[in-house]
Amino acid sequence: MKAKFGQLKQRRRFWESVLQGPVADHVLAGRDELAIKTLETLIEDTADNALQQGEVYLVGAGPGDPDLLTFKALRLMQQADVVFYDRLVSKEVLALVRKEAEMIYVGKQRAWHSKRQDEINLLLLEHAQAGKRVLRLKGGDPFIFGRGGEEIATLAEQKIPFQVVPGITAASGVACYSGIPLTHRDYSQSCVFVTGQLKEGELDLNWQALVQPRQTVVVYMGLAGLDILSQQLQKHGMRADMPAALVQQGTTDNQKVWVSSIAELPELAKKQQPVAPTLLIIGEVVELHNKLAWF
Ligand code: SAH
Repeated sequence: MKAKFGQLKQRRRFWESVLQGPVADHVLAGRDELAIKTLETLIEDTADNALQQGEVYLVGAGPGDPDLLTFKALRLMQQADVVFYDRLVSKEVLALVRKEAEMIYVGKQRAWHSKRQDEINLLLLEHAQAGKRVLRLKGGDPFIFGRGGEEIATLAEQKIPFQVVPGITAASGVACYSGIPLTHRDYSQSCVFVTGQLKEGELDLNWQALVQPRQTVVVYMGLAGLDILSQQLQKHGMRADMPAALVQQGTTDNQKVWVSSIAELPELAKKQQPVAPTLLIIGEVVELHNKLAWF
């Protein structure tokens, strides 16, 4: 092996492919001879440059509880050379990343700039071009309010191999852990995810679509815009006593759930001072929390 693959990195990658591929399958099935043959062919046929190619894994880390990671996420976390993560990824999840991996924080705040995003895109590209296996860990699902599409666009243009791994999005995780079914035959036939992130102090949402009956509305990044949300929804016809829940740090040991009505939301927030990440769920299904809360 040493004669064939000079670098430790190459050998490690080679053995990983062995342990995850047909050789391992043969061994586990008791086909030892076939396993040895396959391994020999693999050593012969694997070009060393094939083991030097970088790749990017854009991975959804779920809403916080590490048990909500997918097997695929965990597997890729275990083979990364370098990890880019932000503040939404819980420390319990980070603890499951391969110990030798270099960890780089690219934290985002609510008012982060697009320049910052360009920098992240570039960092991913550069590390992959250097032959590293780059793990981009994102809270929840990378394709739901996660800018995942932007982060891999440059990679696609530069023909860098990448994979995208879905994660449990906050709406789904938080709803389950707070006992609020997002749909329910008696209360809600549809569910809408929107971002409540302000642009220059404004919220540009399709209000008419959000006040439809028998619908659940989930607002991501809604804390700063709560007052506007509450006012606009009522102005566009939603009843003032429509139940609404704020769920802070859902699925974690610090989860907190506050239930009120859309009219009273701003006051509730003033009193309780929820901190990010907090998700807002609006709709009749919120009432079920009283009965179904389990976590
Ligand atoms: N890609 C992520 C969302 C990123 S936007 C996903 O799919 O979940 C960030 C927003 O997600 C936060 O402002 C908050 O509204 C919500 N969020 C993420 N994790 C959360 C959690 N554990 N509890 C409550 N809200 C959460």
